[in-house]
Amino acid sequence: MIGFQYVRANDVADAVRLIAADPTAKFVAGGTNLLDLMKEDVERPSRLVDISRLPLKTVEETAKGGLRIGALVPNSDLAYHPLVTSRYPMLGSAILAGASAQLRNMASTGGNLLQRTRCPYFYDVATPCNKREPGSGCSAVGGHNRMHAILGTSDACIAVHPSDMCVALAALGATVHVAGPHGSREIAMADFHRLPGDTPHHETNLQRNEIIVAVELPAEGFATNHTYLKIRDRLSYAFALVSVAAALELNDGKIRQARLAMGGVAHKPWRDSAAEAALVGQAPDRAAFVRAADILLRDAKGFEHNAFKVSLAHRAIVRALMQAAAGRPQSQSNKTIQ
Ligand SMILES: Cc1cc2nc3c(=O)[nH]c(=O)nc-3n(C[C@H](O)[C@H](O)[C@H](O)COP(=O)(O)OP(=O)(O)OC[C@H]3O[C@@H](n4cnc5c(N)ncnc54)[C@H](O)[C@@H]3O)c2cc1C
Ligand code: SF4
Repeated sequence: MIGFQYVRANDVADAVRLIAADPTAKFVAGGTNLLDLMKEDVERPSRLVDISRLPLKTVEETAKGGLRIGALVPNSDLAYHPLVTSRYPMLGSAILAGASAQLRNMASTGGNLLQRTRCPYFYDVATPCNKREPGSGCSAVGGHNRMHAILGTSDACIAVHPSDMCVALAALGATVHVAGPHGSREIAMADFHRLPGDTPHHETNLQRNEIIVAVELPAEGFATNHTYLKIRDRLSYAFALVSVAAALELNDGKIRQARLAMGGVAHKPWRDSAAEAALVGQAPDRAAFVRAADILLRDAKGFEHNAFKVSLAHRAIVRALMQAAAGRPQSQSNKTIQ
């Protein structure tokens, strides 16, 4: 473990001032990702700015009928919050599909957005990795890539974003509120995470001297017809091979609105507006869901060990949409609808 300084921020402005003053400082919230990365020598901040006591721990209704979630709301509190369980159950089930109870008690909303990839080469400092050390190469492209991406990859990086919560946030159309030295701004969830391109070390569009203060959900929560389906090697405490957040608004036997986002397949939560648009106006049946999966996966490309993900993702999309249409989310029986 390398030596580092520790300082506690008194308020949001103080946190921004402290991070802006030191280019090698990092915020620490729950610490469940950052401290592991420091122990593995992947991250080497000279200073930790502890934001865990800032007053960003509330979940409040907004004037627009949505929800404002403070950046320090623990994942477990959020998943079980009455406004989430009643109005945004897809978000709750995505959070509960991740990590373990102990980790969710510590993990914060903001930290979950910024957790880093689980690519094993990223953690192994003895191997080349463009994300950890720009320009060094990507060990996963010709290496063991079973868990890696099938969409939006580049020659420089084929890692996936590991979050479950973010997949539901993407499907729900969340907005990230941030504060920095020049004031506050909002970033749409769709624009928050980046594809790897030539700069896989730039993972988000958050600036280094900005802090996430909240995540806002719009009013529509798709509480009736939704599912978060996570396919993984074990039923708990495992990252997704693929996951699907699917939400539908049904009216008179037709789909009025559809949301479809995937995890485990790309460097960011993968939401596809063309696949969603293809569902609108259709009857909620298998044929429509297969078409949507075809569209979402039109550019999917597997590597040596993860080609199976393309067909797995296809089947997962269809199953998730069937569950959503039937009003029976992931853990409940999946009675087929026609
Ligand atoms: C063994 C294990 C299994 C896991 N399994 C899953 C899983 O299946 N699914 C899943 O989704 N997650 C999983 N997680 C990840 C876990 O959910 C994240 O580690 C957690 O959400 C990170 O939150 P944190 O508050 O601990 O972040 P920290 O570790 O404190 O910080 C993470 C990063 O975010 C930055 N940061 C934190 N808060 C802010 C803020 N407000 N503004 C700006 N920057 C900030 C930090 O500087 C740091 O770079 C797992 C973690 C572990 C250790
Ligand atoms: S996939 Fe990305 S994170 Fe993994 S080794 Fe390649 S560059 Fe590094």
